[in-house]
Amino acid sequence: MNQPHTEFSEFHWLVEVLQTVDIGIVVLDMEYNITAWNSFIENNSGVDSADALGRNIFDVFDDLSEQWFKHKAETVTQLRNRAFTTWEQRPYVFKFKNTRPVTGVTDYMYQNTTFIPVANSAGDVENLAIIVYDVTDTATSKIELGEVNDQLALMSRTDGLTQMLNRGYWEDLLAKEFLRQQRNPREHSLIMLDIDHFKNINDTYGHQVGDDVIRAVAKVILDNLRATDFSGRYGGEEFSLVLIDSDQQNSFQLAERLRKKIEQTAVPLPDGEVFVTVSLGVAGWKPEMSEYAQWIEQADQALYESKRNGRNRTSLAP
Ligand code: GH3
Ligand code: MG
Ligand code: MG
Repeated sequence: MNQPHTEFSEFHWLVEVLQTVDIGIVVLDMEYNITAWNSFIENNSGVDSADALGRNIFDVFDDLSEQWFKHKAETVTQLRNRAFTTWEQRPYVFKFKNTRPVTGVTDYMYQNTTFIPVANSAGDVENLAIIVYDVTDTATSKIELGEVNDQLALMSRTDGLTQMLNRGYWEDLLAKEFLRQQRNPREHSLIMLDIDHFKNINDTYGHQVGDDVIRAVAKVILDNLRATDFSGRYGGEEFSLVLIDSDQQNSFQLAERLRKKIEQTAVPLPDGEVFVTVSLGVAGWKPEMSEYAQWIEQADQALYESKRNGRNRTSLAP
């Protein structure tokens, strides 16, 4: 949409009117020297209008990005069009201290700004007006809301006890990876891991120690996976892992490494320490699998095999 330019005479009148409003207005000539500004800018910059007149805008605001500002100004004057910049694109144009009592979120005033070309009576653009809107309240509440949403999203993905992915989210990732496998198969593997005789831990030392054991096992897993792998807390004392670009044999090696590390991990007790072992099942992805549940099922069967053969061991899916 093409906006008509504004005449300079009109602007002087506007600046007068805008002395009392809560909007900033700065008028510059084509050399970026200040020809007018209102009380909003005076109050926030601490520079009186009389002192500002004739000074270069980049001298008054030494942290104003000259390159960005000039580019914007030139575009506006050449195209004779208004241009709007939101706080989301650029938090502020003029660095003013945030005057809100306690926001905590920001030290500076968030601004939306409009650049307006101002023409003389002959129609030549000789001035540029910048209108500054203080949008600190809107911006800070939006930022705070965003932070809360991020926190909620994270909470809905993670298991509170271990900070691992929870089962639901882990399965979402698995489902996506499974679809990718069907289009573009690679050698991925799935591991199910279950703590041996865990009920005994709870029964002997109490639920609190049981929780400590679960956390300790989770930590060994998290510390030993690569960034591309993903692990989740599948159930109470059961964990599920997807290893990317790792065939059944390689994954067996990793499973064994995890098993041995967990076996050697001491979980502190009020008086002493306790050790646990785990059983594992490994299943490489196979082209005949038509849904991801079959992949879990195969690893689960291998896990069951490890339990049946005496626990503290790793088995491969057939
Ligand atoms: P197995 O070697 O066959 O796996 O035996 P197990 O005792 O580990 O297996 P079982 O599935 O019978 O026991 C799992 C127990 O884990 C039962 C449940 O009370 C306990 N459990 C599940 N979630 C938690 C939890 O979050 N914290 C604690 N402390 N215990 C849990
Ligand atoms: Mg168990
Ligand atoms: Mg279990």
